[in-house]
Formats: sequence, C-alpha cells, structure tokens
Amino acid sequence: MEFIDLKRQYRRIESEVKEAIDRVLSSCRFILGPEVEAFEEEIAAFVGVSHAVSCSSGTDALLLSLMAIGVGSGDEVIVPAFSFFATAEVVALLGAKPVFVDILPDTYNIDPEAVKRAITERTKAIIAVSLFGQCAELEELMRVANDAGVYLIEDAAQSFGATHRGKRSCSIAHISATSFFPAKPLGCYGDGGCVFTDDDEMAERLRALRNHGQTARYKHRYIGINGRLDAIQAAILRVKLKIFPEELELREIAAGRYDALLREKGIDPPVVKDYNTSVYAQYTVRVPNRDWVARYLTESGIPVAIHYPIPLPYQEAFSYLGHKDGDFPVAEEASKQVLSIPFHPYINIEEQIRVVEALSEAIAFSEK
Ligand SMILES: *Cc1c(COP(=O)(O)O)cnc(C)c1O
Repeated sequence: MEFIDLKRQYRRIESEVKEAIDRVLSSCRFILGPEVEAFEEEIAAFVGVSHAVSCSSGTDALLLSLMAIGVGSGDEVIVPAFSFFATAEVVALLGAKPVFVDILPDTYNIDPEAVKRAITERTKAIIAVSLFGQCAELEELMRVANDAGVYLIEDAAQSFGATHRGKRSCSIAHISATSFFPAKPLGCYGDGGCVFTDDDEMAERLRALRNHGQTARYKHRYIGINGRLDAIQAAILRVKLKIFPEELELREIAAGRYDALLREKGIDPPVVKDYNTSVYAQYTVRVPNRDWVARYLTESGIPVAIHYPIPLPYQEAFSYLGHKDGDFPVAEEASKQVLSIPFHPYINIEEQIRVVEALSEAIAFSEK
C-alpha cells in the first residue's frame, strides 16, 4: 500500500500526459510561453479569480506573495504555529518577523481570535494556512485583515479545490498561494506553484517578480527571482486539471468511507465544518500513544505520516525568537497526537478497511 498512490492516477492519464509532454518537446518552448498561459487561464477559471500567476513552487508562490506586498525588514507577518516550515520560512527569508499564533483544536487552522490579539502597527500581513485540505476561517479573517488594514494571504498548498462558504479556496483572500508538488491535491511531475488574485496591479507585479522583476525584455522594474513554471509542468497540469473535479468527488467518497469505518471503531474522524468542503490533502486523526501507534502501523505495512511533529516556533531555525514550551498549547498537543493515514482519490474500500482495522488494533495494544 502507498501513502499517496500517484501511480494509479498516472496509469489513468498516461497517454494524455505523454502527448502533452511531446507537444512541449516539439515546440521547444520550455519556460513560460503558450502552454503556461493556457494553463493559467484554465486554472483561474476553475478557481473563479481574475489572475493566476504560475511559478516554480508553493514556497515561491508564498515568497512572491510577500514580495508583491513589499514585506521586508521591520515588518511582522502573522502565521500559524502549526504548518509546514515554508509558511514561516519565507517571512524570515525576507528579513521580516514571523509572529506565531495558536490554532483551533478541531480544524488545526489558525485561530482568528489569536490573530486579532497579535496585530500591531508593524503587522503587514496574515498568512492563513488551509491545513490538511480544509480552508481556514477565511471570511472572518478577511474582516479582521480589512479592519486592520493588512493583507490576508491564503497558504492553499493543501486546500486547492476545497470550498469555504460556497467559494473556492484561492478565491477569498487578497492573495492566495498553492503548490503543485506531486503529492498535493493537484500535483505536477516536479516542482510548481501558483499565486491567485483579483487585484490587477498585484497580478502585474507578481508576473514581473517571478521573472527577475522584468516588465519588458531586459527592463527590470523590481528585484525579483527566477521563479517561473516550466512548460512541461504546465502541460501536465492541464491534463490533470481536466480530471480534477472528478478526483474531488472520489476524495469525498473515500473520506466518507473512512469516516464511517473509524466511527464504528470509536475513533473520531477529522472535523470538517459544515460550511467547508475538504480535499483531504491529508486524512489526519488524533490518537493516543501516537508514536507507538505509528510504529506499529509502519511495521504492519501501513504507511503513515506525522504532520507535523514539531510546531514551527520550536524549530531550531526559529530558536532566535525565544519561544518556550506552553506558548502554543493547542499546536503542541496536536503535534503529539496527529497521525495521517493513507489517502488519495484511488484508495479502495478493501485498503481502507485494512488501515482502520490495523489502526484500531494498534490503539488497543498501545493501551495495554
Ligand atoms: C507543501 C506546502 C508548502 C510548500 O510547497 P512547495 O511546492 O513544496 O514549495 C507550503 N505550505 C504548506 C502548508 C504546504 O503543505
């Protein structure tokens, strides 16, 4: 069994993917160009925003978002204590201060009340991560951000395709950033990412920033980066975007099966708010004796993962911020209990039964 089985998807789309790659090879247009432009139009339409600016990774999508609003030294950016490292890394990379706040215990997403308390006159932006496939409290956070006169950026690396109060992830915040890392809900076959916005001026700046700040050939208005998307990846993504709506349904069905199987065993499934739909980038439960349970499952041939074992403020790279145990109690508890189990659109019920049986057995043994 695979944790995320990309091969099953590949078998389904193999001939289309090969045709798409061939098209790029024959054109010899490898960076940006018509394939990337077509992809950007298609993905912007899917999300329901005016502009999609593709780029080289989810991390660069976040970095470009912060660069586009001018984040730099002396600025503060509010980020959740519980996420993948990149969310806070990009803030520090630009010389600004990541201001960590705690998360909500049910969805693991940033706590809007904690965000309000963390706003100062130096706050430039809030990054709300839509973790595990479910949007953060984006509408509420937009009100908080607008009241404070700061930007809201959605880190949608795990939530592409999800909805929040009827709107797609990546269409709600001022700027949204997603990742096409192969294992993400919409993945390419290498690194890739995209920034979304309805703001025309912001989109122009993002387009320039991803290409050395260039506004016309060899005319550089800004200090930017080399952060473009490869045409081969764009061509692959166009194939994958076509089957993506159906894969979202398959994700929903597979999650429903896990929910029911887990409840039968007295294990709580993940909480998805009734105003959200999740794409389950991770299907994550909380278990007692987590490390023991994880080891048992691995040894039983069930691949599992821990997202994430260390809250961001306690990462060695952020030790200079001086956070201490107890500063982020909700994130700390989550980091000790979370366990992600195999999940992807093509997982079948037999596999899911095996996972849940093994999980339930592991929990029972661990308590003896
Ligand atoms: C994967 C991920 C990123 C980074 O995306 P890359 O494409 O790997 O650079 C950022 N934030 C979160 C929450 C992620 O899960």
